[in-house]
Amino acid sequence: MKFAKRLEWCDSSDVGDILKALSDPEILSLAGGLPAPELFPVEEVKTATALVLDREGDKALQYSSAQGDPRLREMVARRMTDKYGTPAKAEEVLITNGSQQALDMAGKVFLEEGSVVLCESPTYLGALGAFRTYGAEFVEVETDSDGMIIEDLERKLKEIDDVRLVYVNPDFQNPTGIDWSVERRKAFAEVVGRYGVAAIEDNPYGELRFEGPCPPSIKSFDRDGVVISLGSFSKIFSPGMRVAWMIAAPEILSKFGDMKQNAILCSSTLHQAQIVAYNEMFDLDAHVERICKVYKKRMSVLIDSVREFFPKEAVVVPPAGGLFAWVELPEGVNARDVFKVAVEEHKVAFVPGGAFFAEPGHENYMRLNFSNVPEDRLKEGIRRLGAVLSQSM
Ligand code: PMP
Repeated sequence: MKFAKRLEWCDSSDVGDILKALSDPEILSLAGGLPAPELFPVEEVKTATALVLDREGDKALQYSSAQGDPRLREMVARRMTDKYGTPAKAEEVLITNGSQQALDMAGKVFLEEGSVVLCESPTYLGALGAFRTYGAEFVEVETDSDGMIIEDLERKLKEIDDVRLVYVNPDFQNPTGIDWSVERRKAFAEVVGRYGVAAIEDNPYGELRFEGPCPPSIKSFDRDGVVISLGSFSKIFSPGMRVAWMIAAPEILSKFGDMKQNAILCSSTLHQAQIVAYNEMFDLDAHVERICKVYKKRMSVLIDSVREFFPKEAVVVPPAGGLFAWVELPEGVNARDVFKVAVEEHKVAFVPGGAFFAEPGHENYMRLNFSNVPEDRLKEGIRRLGAVLSQSM
């Protein structure tokens, strides 16, 4: 059997160990990026679903438009304008099956074999996978605790010929938890606009902010219509529903709409209607606030435990939101080796950080999840990891 060349990069053994570890119920996992299931609004969704089926069952079980339920698009546009200053109208919103589908479609819409994608260093593993499938070559842009270094972005845009996309995750980045400063957001929009290159602002975590309001989005500074804003209900409501959105200029949106139509015809009509009904009957913002309170507490337990149990040389910065903390180990310590011992001998898992870099090296990092682990288990997990690190450092 002959498989397509575009799959050749794909080495499932790389994530295979992690997935295997996650499926073992004895493993205490700080690896995944899962929301806390005990916070899912199960009863409310039951009530909202009854309303949908009573009121519009014939439509909710039918095919629907590729662009998505107009009521949901209206809701998304309003929330994005209110929360991030993103000036969106319902017709500028396309519903996607998770933001992951938007990343896959971006590969189809923009990339050819050898096209260059500029990204943060490190960046979201799932974006690397999505774009690699369409032949992307990645170039990392230097990044600090305020986001991408704009001078380096501009230098790379100037020097590299075939940059098709710039991909960034500016609010509580997966994996580092970095939250871009407003100045960087503004400068970034100006530079990508001047070079006329498409930029993806991927923001599934922005609303999981432990204090204060959301900063303006990059999209809110986009005067040239090059920024594609991605958001998702996965982390604020339910990842199982697979409902997310993109906001972009009409020319871009229609290309994505065509790709979506060809790929899946439409998103789940029922799940879109359930979210619309939930939003009519309950308070999504209050739900997000509840989630944030729990995650903030878990984050501080994780950080306190790292400081108590990890060797002094391990550096961790408490994130101001999101799901992850990022730990830098001394150079020379390989987190993939640490992972093996942690899983096999101490029954605890995390994600070795090297997987999040487009370029090789950088093996001395760990990504730790705090959303999906109760406080006592978090402390125990970090205690075990501390024991492994003390042995290996
Ligand atoms: N982007 C980032 C940065 C993510 O971390 C994730 C999920 N882990 C996604 C996109 C995809 O999310 P979903 O498809 O569930 O919306």
